[in-house]
Amino acid sequence: MKRIVVLGGAESGVGAAVLAKVKGFDVFLSDMGSIKPHYTELLDRYKIPFEQQGHTPELILNADEIIKSPGIPLTAPLIVEAQSRGIPIISEIEFAGRYSRARMICITGSNGKTTTTMLTRHILASAGVDAALAGNVGQSLALQVAQGDHDCYVVELSSFQLDNMYRFRADIAILLNITPDHLDRYDHKMENYTAAKLRIMQNQRPEDTFIYWADDPILAARVPEAGTPATVLPFTAQGTPGCAATVAEGKMTIQAPGCAPWSFSVESLPIKGLHNLYNAMAASLACSRAGLNPADIMKGLASFQAVEHRLEHVRTLDGITWINDSKATNVASTWYALESMTTPVVLILGGKDKGNDYSEIEHFVSQKVHAIVCLGVDNTKLHAFFDTKVPVVVDARSMAECVVQCRRLARPGDTVLLSPCCASFDLFQSYEDRGQQFKACVAAL
Ligand code: ADP
Repeated sequence: MKRIVVLGGAESGVGAAVLAKVKGFDVFLSDMGSIKPHYTELLDRYKIPFEQQGHTPELILNADEIIKSPGIPLTAPLIVEAQSRGIPIISEIEFAGRYSRARMICITGSNGKTTTTMLTRHILASAGVDAALAGNVGQSLALQVAQGDHDCYVVELSSFQLDNMYRFRADIAILLNITPDHLDRYDHKMENYTAAKLRIMQNQRPEDTFIYWADDPILAARVPEAGTPATVLPFTAQGTPGCAATVAEGKMTIQAPGCAPWSFSVESLPIKGLHNLYNAMAASLACSRAGLNPADIMKGLASFQAVEHRLEHVRTLDGITWINDSKATNVASTWYALESMTTPVVLILGGKDKGNDYSEIEHFVSQKVHAIVCLGVDNTKLHAFFDTKVPVVVDARSMAECVVQCRRLARPGDTVLLSPCCASFDLFQSYEDRGQQFKACVAAL
């Protein structure tokens, strides 16, 4: 019997192990750390042997195939050893794709993946399509395939998942944008990271669709070079010629092949900001290619609410609007958050800086921001950059202190925007924890 070893005992790994077991393989799962109780229960229920708090090489290197969780780098010693022995290493998505007949709508990019994934799924589900979320959001694809499958999956794919995908084919692929991120996992080479993202196009056939942002300089150069037999549908907000979706003069126009062009006012969209227009164009093109009519797509767009921690409206109190964009962990995200601001702003920045270049947001900061609250353990870099550019720059060492400072600095008509540009791990457990603490402190005002 073929032996499959799964490395990593969280959502994707446990899902892959269950699917492998259901398909009759000899399965073993191993995790360096501890496995959460609800996952060990699932493994026990399916009688899948596992180990935690360490890897036993002899139980792993006898595998015919290894399914690696995306969090484990390709440079981990065990992975290097497995590769040197010629053991194929694949991702959970690659494995699950072998056993599902569902339509796969796959979404990647440096920013906007979760929003576009949730939006696409929302439009499909509100039109009555049996569409499920998978990948980085929702349940593991493999677990869903093992437990009953769906007609369609909307799959959020990180570059780490794409790294170990070889034969998987997206019926509809969306590549939103490419900006520097996670370069530490790509030998600090942008080229390697770009190549990982472009893997979303691989194996596509003439009947498939590839949707991408034509205004992105990297994509504009690399997509034509890469070539694909699929129908290519670019989208633009800058008038790039030949695009299937455009935004101009407050109107979004969608022109997918086989469908008459249709337009609507972008004012009608509940999610705000230029970046969300991109996300809406990508989702509309995907849903159109999945067979939905314009009326159903517009209905879904109009009823979609912002995803938690992404430009999420928390509260308006005494004329001050509080917005939680805790998921903005890089400069590009904060750029779009500031772009969408229509009032004076008190901006909360800070956390673990991944090599940020703050000059990218300098223009919006000088136009819109009159005070910055630096929320981090080490705020030196923020002060060095912003002290001479913004009238007030102060520090806070906890969320409670930060919200008190913002309250003091904000005037009626202002927006207080938590869009920190940085990862959260210095003061918080995660960006979710940071956003939740923000909302709790704001609710207590
Ligand atoms: P991801 O899943 O790729 O991290 P999210 O949908 O969670 O993306 O959004 C993260 C942040 O990125 C948001 O807070 C927003 O400020 C920004 N963002 C969202 N969509 C886009 C886009 N299309 N282009 C650039 N930035 C975006």
